[in-house]
Formats: sequence, C-alpha cells, structure tokens
Amino acid sequence: MAVELMYGEEFWNYLEVEIPRAKKHVFLLSAYTSDRDVSQILNTMPAIPHLVLIRDDCHLNSRYQNLIFIDHKIYHAKVYIIDDTVIISSQNLNKVTRVSLKDKVGEISVKFNTNESSNIIYQALLLILRQEYEHCFMQEVCKIEEHHEISEQEAWKHVAGNLYLTEFKENNISSCPCCGHQINVNAYDIASCIEGEEDEEANYACLNCEFFIKVSNHAYCYDRPWERRESVTGFRCSQEFSLFLQLHFYLSIQIGRHQSLQVLRSLNMLGSIKYFDFNKRHYSGVNLWN
Ligand SMILES: [Zn+2]
Repeated sequence: MAVELMYGEEFWNYLEVEIPRAKKHVFLLSAYTSDRDVSQILNTMPAIPHLVLIRDDCHLNSRYQNLIFIDHKIYHAKVYIIDDTVIISSQNLNKVTRVSLKDKVGEISVKFNTNESSNIIYQALLLILRQEYEHCFMQEVCKIEEHHEISEQEAWKHVAGNLYLTEFKENNISSCPCCGHQINVNAYDIASCIEGEEDEEANYACLNCEFFIKVSNHAYCYDRPWERRESVTGFRCSQEFSLFLQLHFYLSIQIGRHQSLQVLRSLNMLGSIKYFDFNKRHYSGVNLWN
C-alpha cells in the first residue's frame, strides 16, 4: 500500500488544484467548515456529483446546495474523496485564521489512490446517515400504512417498490439491480376494474437472487380508460438494496431527487449491491502512485 503524507497547507493546495479538475465525483466529510471556505470550494466545483457533510453544531450563515448537517453527537469525520483519491485528515474544511496555514504543520493528512473509493464512501454514508435514512423511510412507510389501511409489511413493499419503479427501473429491465444477473419477465393480462378494459401485469424476477417486482399497468379513471398508470403490487429485494433505496429516499429530501440520483449513480453500484460488504475494513486495491 502506498500512501502520501501531506502537512499543513499542502492539504489545501491539493484540494484547491484537484477539486476543479475532478471528473467523477467529490465527497467532503468534515466536522466543521466556514461560510468563506465552503463557498470558495463549492464555487470551483465542476458540474459533477458532489456531497458535503458537516456537523449540525457548525453554524453557517448561508444555505449550500448538496450540504447536509449531521448530528454532532455521532459525527466527527474528516474524509475527502476526489474521484479515486481518498484523503483521511486531521483537517477540517476550515482554514482557521489565528495561525497562518504555513505554520499549521501539526495538521497531517494521509492520501492514497484506490479503485475502491466508491466502496469507502458508500460505507461511510451508510454508517453516518443510518439513523436519519431509516427514520425518514419508516415515517413514509407509516404514512402509507395509515393512508391505505394496510399492514406495515405491505406498506414497506409499496414505498420501496414504487421508489425502485420510478427511480431505478429502466424501460426494459434486463438485469437485476441487486446482483446484475438476468431478469425473467412474465407479462399477462388481467381483468380490469373498468368494464371492457384489460389491465396488464408483469412479474420481473431475478434468476439468481431474491429480487422480484410485480408491476401492474392499469386504467384508473372511468372517464378516460385509455389513460394508464403503473404501480407496484409486489416487491422483494436484498437487505443491501433496501438500504440503497432508503439512502436515496433520504438524500432526495435533503439535496433534491436529481442530485441524489447523480451522487448515487456516480458510485456505480447498481447491479453489484448484493455483493457489497459495508462492514469491510481491509482494502487491498490501493494503487501505487503513477
Ligand atoms: Zn439478482
């Protein structure tokens, strides 16, 4: 494993040069920041997926797109990911002005390049945001449970399944979002609740794992039977994919649906989520410096 140490202002020099040149994504996980420093960095951010996590006892005067406040009782990270480079540092995203950056030699950062940077950041997001996304998702499940007077289990299927249907199901689903294997499609007509109409239903089942979704395409209005709506009537997926959906649900509320989709898609995990180990501690795919 090859790592590079950066002292004091070298951390800032690196960030200021590399963030504007980033191609894939940028994740900035810092306990503290300041309006001046975070706005300076966000102003040079290229139009790529990015996310900033800051403690909720850090007071900022402005609101920033893609910045989420995290419970200060559980969060004190300083991890920065620019494309495939990971920096683990003592530095906050805050140029403290009492001492010149040149003199802050006691700040140490460790930098390494890895093709597993997506795993590292996804693992961090799952752990750090867990209480938030689980709570947020269960609130929605309870709302659906009460609204439709169905069981919690059915409400969970409804929320998770429809989230998958609207956000991640491509037009022709051919491979499983959990494991990447082939999907078996079984489509058939069913009687409609509107006389003279036929609705359609389709089962999509992975040939390798538990992933399954049943989608009904039905007329829903007596006046306009030609208008049809898709909805989920059955859903099952791995625990890992369920967490992915919950994370997207939470991030959509925090930073917006489009931004969340961009951030999660930049991690390139769809099709292999089932095999991802978010408890992984040992990474061997650390590259030597070019
Ligand atoms: Zn599968």
